Amino acid sequence: MKVTDHIKKAKGKTQFTFEILPPLKGQDIQSIFDAIDPLMEFNPPFIDVTYHREEYNYIEREKGLLEKKVIRKRPGTVGICAAIQNRYQVDAIPHILCGGFTQEDTENFLIDLDFLGIENLVALRGDAVKSETYFNPNKGGHTYAKDLVVQINNLNQGQYLDEELLNSTPTDFCVGVAGYPEKHAEAPSLESDIQFLKEKIKAGSDYIITQMFFDNQKFFEFKKKCREAGIDVPIIPGLKPMATLKQLNLIPHRFHVDLPQELINEIQKASDNSAVSEIGIEWCIEQSKELKKHGVPFLHYYSMGKSKNVKKIAQALF
Ligand code: FAD
Repeated sequence: MKVTDHIKKAKGKTQFTFEILPPLKGQDIQSIFDAIDPLMEFNPPFIDVTYHREEYNYIEREKGLLEKKVIRKRPGTVGICAAIQNRYQVDAIPHILCGGFTQEDTENFLIDLDFLGIENLVALRGDAVKSETYFNPNKGGHTYAKDLVVQINNLNQGQYLDEELLNSTPTDFCVGVAGYPEKHAEAPSLESDIQFLKEKIKAGSDYIITQMFFDNQKFFEFKKKCREAGIDVPIIPGLKPMATLKQLNLIPHRFHVDLPQELINEIQKASDNSAVSEIGIEWCIEQSKELKKHGVPFLHYYSMGKSKNVKKIAQALF
């Protein structure tokens, strides 16, 4: 079922959903099931599965020469989605990127998803590869998520890249896109970012799912600005419980979000990571309660493959 239909069916009730990462290459799919199993009692209508593009490693060879090695640490997004739908009978939502894909690759990826009965996806640009400062599309690939949304919607109307295809069947994907309550790292301002977000919606996206945030006020202001800009699709808040002391620096650095001073103070007083995790759980429960009261359609948790803390949060809410 489409995300938008799950919202209609819930008639205003907030539902529990979460995101997982494919396992590192070489690991068993059981590690994914072990992360999902404890969360199924909260009846998630869907589970998101992230996509991880290739990375480049440079290996030093003789005479100072560098060998470029392409690696994909976390392949398997599509396979995991199929396995989730098969095992749990819930919708699996693959993320799909511009980065690393030509338009032809994208079309073939979408055909696979359609054949597997996957009805939803999240369309993203992806970050720059680690060795580059700026995002560079593949030759023949998309530069912005909006262009990817256009291609998906063309396919939803039966328009394939090869215009001479006869009797082509339209797909019927429900498309989510990313929104950033504290603006995307590269955007010159939140207003500018919201204008481009509006372009993604106009291109045919059905809902927005946000980057993590730790201060609900940021979400409420973002939502208000989106509505003022004429964006009227559902906005799903993404939440992540802090779990380790290291994340105090890592999360702002990697996700370009601020942490409230009160949360920082509490974490700095914590004796070890298990105390940090308890603080993160409590903080996330309070955030979730307020967002639920606000009437959000889903509370979407970035589980990062660890279900223990997300389970404790869900127990307090659902
Ligand atoms: P876009 O919407 O294309 O925006 C990128 C930047 O370009 C923004 O600053 C925007 O303001 C600007 N912009 C947009 N259009 C234009 C234009 N026409 N002209 C000039 N500027 C423009 N990454 C992964 O690799 N795998 C994942 O699975 C994944 N899942 C994610 C899930 C969520 C919910 C979120 C919030 C992020 C996720 N990401 C993932 C990270 C995401 O790929 C990065 O944040 C990426 O840098 C931006 O992607 P986007 O789709 O928001 O890009």
